[in-house]
Amino acid sequence: MNPAPAVVWFRRDLRLGDNPALAAAALSGRPVVPLFVLPAAGECRALGAASRWWLHRSLRSLAADIASLGSQLVLRHGPANEAVLEVATGCGAAEVHWNRRYEGPSIATDRRIKESLLDAGIPALSHNGSLLAETADIRTLRGGPYKVFTPFWNAWRRFVQVSEPAARPPVLATGPQMACDRLEDWGLLPQDSRWAATLEASWTPGEHAARRALDAFAAATVDSYADRRDFPAAAGTSRLSPHLAWGEISPRQALHAAASSAERHGAGARGPESWIRQLAWREFHAHLLYHFPTMPDRNWRQQFDRFPWVDDGPRLAAWQRGLTGYPIVDAGMRELRETGWMHNRVRMIAASFLVKDLLIDWRAGEAWFWERLVDADAANNAGNWQWIAGTGADAAPYFRIFNPATQGERFDGEGRYVRRWVPELARLAAPRIHRPWTAPRSELRKAGVELGRSYPHRIVDHAKARLEALASLRSLQAVG
Ligand code: FAD
Repeated sequence: MNPAPAVVWFRRDLRLGDNPALAAAALSGRPVVPLFVLPAAGECRALGAASRWWLHRSLRSLAADIASLGSQLVLRHGPANEAVLEVATGCGAAEVHWNRRYEGPSIATDRRIKESLLDAGIPALSHNGSLLAETADIRTLRGGPYKVFTPFWNAWRRFVQVSEPAARPPVLATGPQMACDRLEDWGLLPQDSRWAATLEASWTPGEHAARRALDAFAAATVDSYADRRDFPAAAGTSRLSPHLAWGEISPRQALHAAASSAERHGAGARGPESWIRQLAWREFHAHLLYHFPTMPDRNWRQQFDRFPWVDDGPRLAAWQRGLTGYPIVDAGMRELRETGWMHNRVRMIAASFLVKDLLIDWRAGEAWFWERLVDADAANNAGNWQWIAGTGADAAPYFRIFNPATQGERFDGEGRYVRRWVPELARLAAPRIHRPWTAPRSELRKAGVELGRSYPHRIVDHAKARLEALASLRSLQAVG
């Protein structure tokens, strides 16, 4: 007689390699029932359109991988506590494994599921598959959470050890046949087939593609990462964020790859160390979200609850569509809209423009990023938005307001990034390309640009908008 199976509940850990929950189940010697549950409406924040596309493609890849090991991925729709319990009792499971999540609603779900499984006499075992240091591992001397990145980074860097990632199990003993939803019936793919095609052309979701991307980055790009990471036309970053957000690679695999690159170059390799620091930002935001679960929808600094945000639909729409008249902002917003991703430097410029030039509430920007990013992540998205808005725990000072034209000149000096995403400006010479409003009419005509027709006039004058923002922010500081 076969031993009772172990259920592995996959969430944002859509990989077989270095997956602690799966490894523990495989090690038990029991047949494995791999399960993914599509959360029900209201159970957690609804996924954005780009995330739904990614999830569909990633699950297809995971299901194929699991099939190649001799098992079958069971798909069920939520509520998760009902689905996990039903599958566990239905297959007579001896235990259920999963990797922990750190955002409020998922923690509550985990707790409920653990209780109902225990009531049914089934042990529930949770593991750490998403962070190099868990929330209890990094604490201030007083035992509380860090709220500022630099001390967090120092403590995190001392704590985190490079270790060999676990290999994927060579085979999974098949558990009993379970009823399974059809992935196609979940309706995760966008209606807009042109957009779906662009996403397909831009990305390959799934563990194999994630591994290839990590290997390629660690073999070459990481060496110059510290010098090139801020230049959006340079392809100087890893583009691993959606793979990390969906757990197609583990942070341990990422750290191990960076450490191996550093070894090649000897002590003091700037590129890998600078990249590891970005992995620490990811963990910092996860820690913040764990300790301050309202981070996605509440100002961390409460004095901002009185900030006079402007409710301006047409300006918000112009920002979303990349029609603000500021070329670097528009290029970023169009890259996001088309491909589901935007370079980090441009995310900062575009976010600052929304919050500080248009004075639109950061939550409207966060929501749009959530809808369109393939790497949308509750902690990273809210954490970065609050940082830019100045409302966050470790936030940019309120007087730091990016000048979009100067930022464009500095980080896209030749205008290559703008030319790619704002083709109507492609024939303008640098540096005018970042300030088309300063170009003489003859120059614009020669480049085929007609402001207000082929490309919009600026929707605000940055110099004026900056002074208005400073006045509002200063009054808040005085009150706060
Ligand atoms: P790399 O430079 O190669 O960095 C490696 C990894 O480190 C990234 O894949 C990511 O996991 C992590 N990382 C890098 N920068 C940051 C950062 N500032 N904060 C947290 N983690 C970081 N990142 C997301 O993963 N999801 C989001 O929803 C998200 N929203 C953002 C919103 C705003 C307004 C801003 C300014 C940044 C946001 N970021 C978000 C962070 C960052 O822009 C992306 O992680 C990065 O651009 C991804 O590109 P990459 O994989 O090439 O990064």
